[in-house]
Amino acid sequence: MNNKIKNFFRSDIDEIKEYEILDSNGMVKLDAMENPFDLGLEFQTSFIPSSEININRYPDGSCKNLINKLKSNLSVSEKDNILIGNGSDELIQIICMAFQKEGNVVLCPEPTFSMYKNIAKFVGLKFESVFLREDFSLDVDNMCESIARHDPAIIFLAYPNNPTGNIWQKSDLKKIIESTNGIVVIDEAYRPFSGVSFIEEMRNYENLLIMGTLSKNGLAGLRLGYLIGKQNIIRKINKLRLPFNVNSISQRVSELMLDKGDYLASQAKDIIKFRELMIAEMRKIEKIEVYDSSTNFVLFKIKEGSASHVFDVLLKKKILIKDMSRNSMLDNCLRVTVGTEKENKLFIQSLENALN
Ligand code: PMP
Repeated sequence: MNNKIKNFFRSDIDEIKEYEILDSNGMVKLDAMENPFDLGLEFQTSFIPSSEININRYPDGSCKNLINKLKSNLSVSEKDNILIGNGSDELIQIICMAFQKEGNVVLCPEPTFSMYKNIAKFVGLKFESVFLREDFSLDVDNMCESIARHDPAIIFLAYPNNPTGNIWQKSDLKKIIESTNGIVVIDEAYRPFSGVSFIEEMRNYENLLIMGTLSKNGLAGLRLGYLIGKQNIIRKINKLRLPFNVNSISQRVSELMLDKGDYLASQAKDIIKFRELMIAEMRKIEKIEVYDSSTNFVLFKIKEGSASHVFDVLLKKKILIKDMSRNSMLDNCLRVTVGTEKENKLFIQSLENALN
């Protein structure tokens, strides 16, 4: 590349790391918090009326039908509205762009979902973080102190948190929402497995936004995220959304799948059951510490041995999990997504072998 082109790039381009996604072809895939049950061709073709989708036309840019369906499914009040994103990753980006102003700060606890920090930095916002306590609970006093010092425009709180898997006290989150002048985005990506939500609290707070995704309940391939907030706030954020960000197929299939809420809920119930079985089995292994989870994944620490060695041994056995050991506070930690019963058994056996 010649120097002229080089000089036109943003000055931090060489410091930005690509989001690493390992090749999972042929692997037992327990790295990305997906639902392990595929829908099956027969089920899929039985209810997805492809002929209803006119792919020669642009999709409905306003996602009207899908928004109405979500509003009634989630009992969203008349005062609130919904913005649809191409996955919640895109919503994080749109929110950050909407608050992109000289001096504005994004605040998060740490460790948390890495995209909050990455996207804040991509769009040129300042980023501040406050460490969780050692048991991964929120350090509310330090959060409030940081709010007073930095006056953040946005606070992202993953509820439950990724990658720690735990869920914070509702009263702590309320304190944060009440202490800040800016918006608070409660990211409920793992709501299907925690069963708790801040949606009811929407009526009490003007600055509260709630984000959700269909990815963790079995529809990761559709890329469908949603953001609930007060009409006037959503209207402003919506100006930064690209006109046709969600394709017709994703919109229509999401609508149809939302009608099959019981089907998705029963899968989530199974995953919760498998998670508890998995945690109980993992706790029998002395060389690891296993943390509680309100999600569809389990974080664990290698007490004797090295996390990256265990990760590599599992990888050779074609089991893909996530190495978290480079994150601050997650020294020697790995994260495994709950799979099918068979996958979980294979993972636990292989983990035991890797540690011996
Ligand atoms: N929020 C959290 C807390 C997540 O863990 C993830 C995915 N890892 C996302 C959002 C992104 O989800 P989506 O697939 O909707 O972009």
